[in-house]
Amino acid sequence: MEDARDGAGGGTRLNRAKVLRWALIHVGALVGGSLFFSWSAVAVAMGLAAVTMCLGVSVGFHRGLIHRAFQTSRAMEAVLAVLGSLAGLGGVLGMSRMHHRRDYHQNQPDCPPYFGYSGGFLNAMGYALFFDSEARDESVYPPVDPRVAERPLFQFLERAGLWLQVPLALALYAAGGEAFVAWGLFVRLALTQDGFWAIHYVSHTSGEQPYELPGAAEQGRNTGWLALLSMGESWHNTHHAFPSSAQMGVGWRQPDPGFWAVRALEGLGLVWNVKTVSNLPLREGARHARPTRVHRSAQPVTAR
Ligand SMILES: [Zn+2]
Ligand SMILES: [Zn+2]
Repeated sequence: MEDARDGAGGGTRLNRAKVLRWALIHVGALVGGSLFFSWSAVAVAMGLAAVTMCLGVSVGFHRGLIHRAFQTSRAMEAVLAVLGSLAGLGGVLGMSRMHHRRDYHQNQPDCPPYFGYSGGFLNAMGYALFFDSEARDESVYPPVDPRVAERPLFQFLERAGLWLQVPLALALYAAGGEAFVAWGLFVRLALTQDGFWAIHYVSHTSGEQPYELPGAAEQGRNTGWLALLSMGESWHNTHHAFPSSAQMGVGWRQPDPGFWAVRALEGLGLVWNVKTVSNLPLREGARHARPTRVHRSAQPVTAR
């Protein structure tokens, strides 16, 4: 089924497999989550979501394998990639490809609707959850890092997809029966899928922009109220300005759990050469936003 909405990046196509997977997960979450409830199952779901999203997706996939914001061993990369794949948002190859496409289009003056946010919340969620983008010219995008694309483990995790949840489901069932499976698997997957893209939308549409990227259609926003829930990823304007930085939130006023995790791993000697906003230059073309004029002197400012 072809979708008529088209843009500079090519067309978009409804992916029925994505719709089916989303529906199964959400039916499982609603039915299973309400039939089988326990507070310990909720705690297991929250714990698994935090570990897979923080260490797996934010630190392992995004800051580590996509942006190379720190160095680590192949063994540590493997551990983080398995955790990231268990988040249920897809493998690191597909996530890298999508990230490069999104980044390319958002930094052009015109961004096709699939990669932009001007069409509103439901439009952005629908595209992200159910549609694929089809590029007219793949060659404009940077290729996925061969260290990622050619690694057999990452290819296996990509192909395995949601089947990776099966061994986890068996372990959850053994540990806590139906409630652990309903909450630790279905409710968790439903919340991470919807939450991930909802946070993506908000951190492009509402919040401060301390940095400007002239000529870029989407520049991200720093959305403080989502900082803890997003593992620090919602300091997103800073991420657009310093894409290679492992640090997104700066200072104690900008909590960044993903960066705390990177610092903890560094303390344990498991990662090193961590790039931060203080040891990196601004992205080419980016600049500090012109500060809103603050008059330190007591001189009155005449309104015009
Ligand atoms: Zn962005
Ligand atoms: Zn990024």
